[in-house]
Amino acid sequence: MSERTIALVTGANKGIGYEIAAGLGALGWSIGVGARDEQRRESAVERLRAAGADAFGVPLDVTDDASATAAARLLEDRAGRLDVLVNNAAITGDWPQEPTRIDPGTIRTVVETNVIGVLRVTNAMLPLLRRSASPRIVNMSSSVGSLTRQSETDDVQAIGPLAAGYPPSKSFLNALTVQYARELRGTNILINLGCPGYVATDLNGFRGVRTPEQGAAIAIKLATLPDDGPTGGFFEDAGEVPW
Ligand code: NAP
Repeated sequence: MSERTIALVTGANKGIGYEIAAGLGALGWSIGVGARDEQRRESAVERLRAAGADAFGVPLDVTDDASATAAARLLEDRAGRLDVLVNNAAITGDWPQEPTRIDPGTIRTVVETNVIGVLRVTNAMLPLLRRSASPRIVNMSSSVGSLTRQSETDDVQAIGPLAAGYPPSKSFLNALTVQYARELRGTNILINLGCPGYVATDLNGFRGVRTPEQGAAIAIKLATLPDDGPTGGFFEDAGEVPW
């Protein structure tokens, strides 16, 4: 069994996921770069290794059961366990997304990746996480999924564009994570939600105002929580995000 802490980051080939992988790699951890496209995955692994990280590629499409199972098998063979899972991969889906205009198929596609993808990967990895001394699961959410903020402000940076696909998928992910926390209470697994802020990435056409490195910080914090840390919480750099 590997002595190094071993983590898997989904959607780690670019954006915030890449910087989460880089940040955890800088701690001396072994980092599985979960990504669906072989070229993008291997290029990220190369860049992370060049920066000194112990990175390796994990072929993973979060919408595919067989892919999640194969990823778990790869980690089982490599390390026999998983210490940290960061469910970072997500999509916004096609536009328009106003409730009165959205194609229902867009909602299905977004939920398949942003919610069911997290469920699929988490459940595939749980047997490996249960073998860790201090397992952590971090689900990358967004303040656009905060129902409280939706009712409190019109600030598009905080609540996102008017959309029936992406923001509700994060509210759904938040609710799902709370249910996981309830089921896993009494185990040593801590599961939390992180919000990176408004970050310049492909997801928003690089309109975000924070760097991917800044966006990764909350995930790194939640991935390295002490054993008496919180579970079932929703956090950004400044503290708890209202539900
Ligand atoms: P990004 O640059 O678009 O990166 C998304 C990542 O997810 C890419 O690596 C993408 O891979 C991957 N992905 C998408 N579908 C996948 C699938 N089916 N299987 C495997 N990987 C898949 O987005 P980001 O801004 O870094 O977002 C990272 C996380 O932060 C997401 O959960 C997002 O919702 C959240 N977030 C972002 C912001 C922001 O302002 N950027 C704000 C709040 C929350 P490909 O390259 O193959 O497409």
